[in-house]
Amino acid sequence: MGAELCLMRPWHARLVIFTDLDGTLLDPVTYSWQAAKPAMEACARMDIPVILNSSKTGAEMARLARQMDIAWPYIVENGGGICFPKESPFQCMEDDTPGRSLDHIAIGISYDRLCEALLQISAETGIGIRGFSQMSPDEIISLTGLDRKDARRAAQRQYDEPFLIENTLPDALEQIRKTAACMGLQVTPGGRFYHLHGKFDKGKAVEWLTARLKPFGDIRRVGIGDSENDIPMLEAVDIPVWVAPPEKPAPAIDGLLRSGKTSSGPKAWNQVVLSLIRERYSL
Ligand SMILES: [Mg+2]
Repeated sequence: MGAELCLMRPWHARLVIFTDLDGTLLDPVTYSWQAAKPAMEACARMDIPVILNSSKTGAEMARLARQMDIAWPYIVENGGGICFPKESPFQCMEDDTPGRSLDHIAIGISYDRLCEALLQISAETGIGIRGFSQMSPDEIISLTGLDRKDARRAAQRQYDEPFLIENTLPDALEQIRKTAACMGLQVTPGGRFYHLHGKFDKGKAVEWLTARLKPFGDIRRVGIGDSENDIPMLEAVDIPVWVAPPEKPAPAIDGLLRSGKTSSGPKAWNQVVLSLIRERYSL
């Protein structure tokens, strides 16, 4: 992709933190990040980027980033795109349009193409499929349990189309997967829905961003996650950190740091990040 990062002010951090949200920086039950606040404040003091990397939409993440007072770029929809807030110290410039900064970069395939592809998959396989774009706000609210405003934000999708399979044929998913693969697309099971998206993941977005951050200094990349869809991100960084509860098996990744037996989620995030800052900055 023909785009580079421009630094809008001096920046000399030695760590960059890529982090998942639900179950990692946000408590899985209360969605609070209070337990991670001391480490978040230390990152702000040391000018260490905290780059949110989640399956949430840009609209959902823009709101969270504002609430957390984070102005760094953030990665949306499982690596589908990267958003650059106006106040971010890093702005993204198109190579061929000097001086023009982009508010986001698409790594995935556009949403319109995904919605068309889903209709085509349904027609080709004869399987009843219902995508998010075909659902009314009330239907999304009843399926997700979100309130109206959050449901509206969750529906503002750009790179990933959640869907339900209406027939219960045993091989329906397999047929959908095969047809999607012929179109260069992937199907991933999520908590409530299946997801149709291009061939990208959280790790590819981390690679895109860090390739462009590296010229700015000797940066160690930390990745923090708690689920299967975080594994590509953990494999793409220098310091992978796993903060799932101890009963959840950790993935086999070289050098994986694990939170202690008594902490997980934002509490573990806080401990691990504070200790990495102490180590890296010899505090
Ligand atoms: Mg998670």
